[in-house]
Amino acid sequence: MIETFQSYIAGEWVAGSNITIDENPSDLDSPVGEFGVVDAQRTHDAVGAAQKAQLGWAATTPQQRADVLDAIGSEILARKAELGRLLAMEEGKPLPESIGEAARAGQIFKFFAGEALRIPGECLASTRPGVGIEITREPVGVVGIIAPWNFPLAIPAWKIAPALAYGNTVVFKPAESVPGCAWALAEIISRSGLPDGAFNLVIGSGQTVGQAILDAPGLDALSFTGSVATGNQLLRSAAARGLKIQLEMGGKNPLIVLADADMDKAVQCALNGAYFSTGQRCTASSRLIVESAVHDEFVERLQRKLAALKVGPAVAEDTDIGPVASQQQLDQDLSYIQIGKDEGASLLWGGERLDPGPRGYYLQPALFAAEPGHRIATEEIFGPVACVIPAADYDQALALANDTQFGLCAGICTTSLKHAIHFKRHAQAGMVMVNLPTAGVDPHVAFGGRKGSSYGAREQGRYAAEFYTTVKTAYTAA
Ligand code: ADP
Repeated sequence: MIETFQSYIAGEWVAGSNITIDENPSDLDSPVGEFGVVDAQRTHDAVGAAQKAQLGWAATTPQQRADVLDAIGSEILARKAELGRLLAMEEGKPLPESIGEAARAGQIFKFFAGEALRIPGECLASTRPGVGIEITREPVGVVGIIAPWNFPLAIPAWKIAPALAYGNTVVFKPAESVPGCAWALAEIISRSGLPDGAFNLVIGSGQTVGQAILDAPGLDALSFTGSVATGNQLLRSAAARGLKIQLEMGGKNPLIVLADADMDKAVQCALNGAYFSTGQRCTASSRLIVESAVHDEFVERLQRKLAALKVGPAVAEDTDIGPVASQQQLDQDLSYIQIGKDEGASLLWGGERLDPGPRGYYLQPALFAAEPGHRIATEEIFGPVACVIPAADYDQALALANDTQFGLCAGICTTSLKHAIHFKRHAQAGMVMVNLPTAGVDPHVAFGGRKGSSYGAREQGRYAAEFYTTVKTAYTAA
């Protein structure tokens, strides 16, 4: 029997309308389930329910909130294989990566269970005699969460968990293509001991449900991860109504390979960073900037690795790279591959549609030799498409790495301590990797970027408190 993924509003499951197939990008003939969408009125009801529940939830003890988050984290961890399988089928990430993501979602809830017990404050003496000052953190209120499809368990987890830990209530809208993961997460959250209305799931399109969240008068803050175009649109709307907002958007992340690098490690970093998860990570390395002295050797070795990659169904045991997540994303990838050819970049490897068996969105990973100004070297593609760019030396490589509108993550492969230290200081990015792929971050430390990649406070780790709390300064005369 096919599962129907429902919304969850004010403690009730809501079927929604326009029942639609939830597609399996690895096998279009075996859908994951089906789902209905809610309308703007239902979305406003969810914000209203969150508003009603907020003061009560904020008044719970840190231990009560910690217990709820810990229960959610424990169940996700205990069921990581099952949740990972759902994720693999719905998003197309190979099974081991999907199970890893489910485990990470569980760990994030457990981390914030601990953070609920460690909400920081300060106590200072006043400049006036007999007066004391306390600086405390309070919840922001009702937080809207708009999430993308590429990490359908981990990204919602790293927004929902801190929101609840600090006493906020939540209205969560997943991307339309991953309602199953959102529903599974909501189902676990619904049994964790939260009061009705403290957590709500609204399934529907960005245009209707996303816009309705933003328009709801009861909303106090919005956390968004997605495309630059949508993020910028939300930023303008949020500014117009004075809404606190946090945006994680695109990347065009550079990985520099210097001549002194351990070449095996550098090739593996490039392969993993550029192509794993089908290149559908905002931290993916899409610009491989390679010192000229080792450029040809690097390209040859990377091509050999690419030739050995097995592209196939997400749940097949021998799959290295799963399908592209959707027809829309596949069209975008193919269109950029054509753009690359048209603008004179040379296709060194791949870029063809593949047919490994079941009907799905399979694409051979592509590697271009490009010039820094090419569109494929400047615009985010969000697929298994990377380009290699030569650089005369470290200084030119750094200049090329920083010459982008984005600033999410930047990597370098080198055995030079001098260059590693210089790069960590001078890379214009929110995250820097030395001898590691640009994608793949820890769940307990700050995540976020600079320039066009991000806006507002950082996510994750204890830095999440910046967005999910507001500071109060209290003066007391003895
Ligand atoms: P992508 O291209 O990766 O799908 P989007 O920015 O379109 O990125 O989508 C990210 C999230 O933003 C999804 O949940 C989507 O439904 C939502 N979204 C898209 N358009 C809007 C909008 N106008 N208002 C609010 N949310 C939106």
